[in-house]
Amino acid sequence: RSSHPDQLLAHARAAIDHGRSAAHAGEVTSKIPALAAVDPASFGLSVTTVDGAELGVGDCAVQFSLQSLTKLFALVALLRVEPEAWAHVGWAPTELGYGSVAELERSAGRPRNPFVNAGALIVTDRLLHHTGSAVETVAELVRDLAGDPAVESDAAVSASEAGADHRNRALAHVLAEHGRLLNDVDDVLAHYYAQCAITGSALGVARAGRFLVDRRLHGRVLDSNNVRRINAVLLTAGMYGAAGDIAYRVGLPAKSGVGGGVLAVLPGVGTVCAWSPPLDREGNSVGGVAAIEQFSRTSGWSVF
Ligand code: GLN
Repeated sequence: RSSHPDQLLAHARAAIDHGRSAAHAGEVTSKIPALAAVDPASFGLSVTTVDGAELGVGDCAVQFSLQSLTKLFALVALLRVEPEAWAHVGWAPTELGYGSVAELERSAGRPRNPFVNAGALIVTDRLLHHTGSAVETVAELVRDLAGDPAVESDAAVSASEAGADHRNRALAHVLAEHGRLLNDVDDVLAHYYAQCAITGSALGVARAGRFLVDRRLHGRVLDSNNVRRINAVLLTAGMYGAAGDIAYRVGLPAKSGVGGGVLAVLPGVGTVCAWSPPLDREGNSVGGVAAIEQFSRTSGWSVF
């Protein structure tokens, strides 16, 4: 397995070339109108290791919309104040896609995991209840973990999502009908969109994911029991319905967002984040997944 920075840089360069050609098969999200303006040719890739190496290629320093990548950090923020919050969101694999109302209905309004939208709405709701501001709590955590003062919630992106939100609104109402929300539907949705609109760069996200792989950070960011659980659920549900495919092709716990970001982690070794806006039908970055697959193959990074 590669760990020398020069080797990793060579693998990252080859991975980004591979990812760039694969990205043509995807399409930038149309669900959040403000994100349609992002240049589809953008591509950034960053790698960090527990030995302290940090490297990046392409647009690795450009801020992009984290979207569902924030579900990971929101979960961390919640578990810090409510370590047993899993009872409210579950930890089962996703079956029907991240925005499925049917999946939520089947489980009597209990989301299958914290990475589908229904589960993330529960996380945001509880965070809002405990801390008074889900978006500020999550933005501060990402800023701190990424070591990047430029991390902020983009108001134009959250307003744009709020204006096109039939599905998330439906999910929130199903949750409310089952008595699972502590706050008003409108407040929860507003905080959820603002949270999804938090920005970060590939380098910042790769850094922010280090608590998942570096034992020395356990306890400082989150207790080791919850870190282990999060890595397990990232492997089985972080990439929605494609999680099994990604486990087979890449073999790393991973999380994606419709902004085109993908974070993958190898506990004990390091993190890799790719950003490329065009998506596949599951809402995962086509080029980002292809780049990480290539990187994992050449570097030997896999949990298996
Ligand atoms: N804000 C997006 C939504 O709620 C996030 C989805 C995603 O990144 N997969 O639909």
